[in-house]
Amino acid sequence: MNCEDIKLMISEYLDDELPKGKDIILFSHLSGCTECREEFKHQNLIQHTVRLNRREVSGRLEQRIFNSIQEEKKIPAKWIARPVPAYVNYILGLIIVMITLFSFLQVSSLRYDLNDIRARYDTAIDRIQYQSRQMDLIMNNVPAVRITGQPVKIIN
Ligand SMILES: [Zn+2]
Repeated sequence: MNCEDIKLMISEYLDDELPKGKDIILFSHLSGCTECREEFKHQNLIQHTVRLNRREVSGRLEQRIFNSIQEEKKIPAKWIARPVPAYVNYILGLIIVMITLFSFLQVSSLRYDLNDIRARYDTAIDRIQYQSRQMDLIMNNVPAVRITGQPVKIIN
């Protein structure tokens, strides 16, 4: 094992990718090689810093995501905060019901009017027929009139 192999093993170890058993080889080399020990410290520091930053970045990212969610919630919240008052819905419903009832009444009253007109028409026809019969009776009972030079004679 030369120092280049060990440097590779150091990064594998710090990434938790070094196979078990190989760490003995690594640490036995590190105990005898100052340069690799320094390399280990250096890489360890870098790794630690990277992890810290990653955690911080992810933490900040989480915060930003959370904030954006909160902001998104705020926008519809404005609409939810001012809902249409319930009485408006009630009034609208009442108006619709009244319009429906009114149109229903209009139709039924129209039908009633039509029936009334028909009834009156029938009555009128009956009356006319009755009067016509009466007239016939009267006319038949009136003696015929003959116009002559003589005084009017009534013929039965
Ligand atoms: Zn070495």
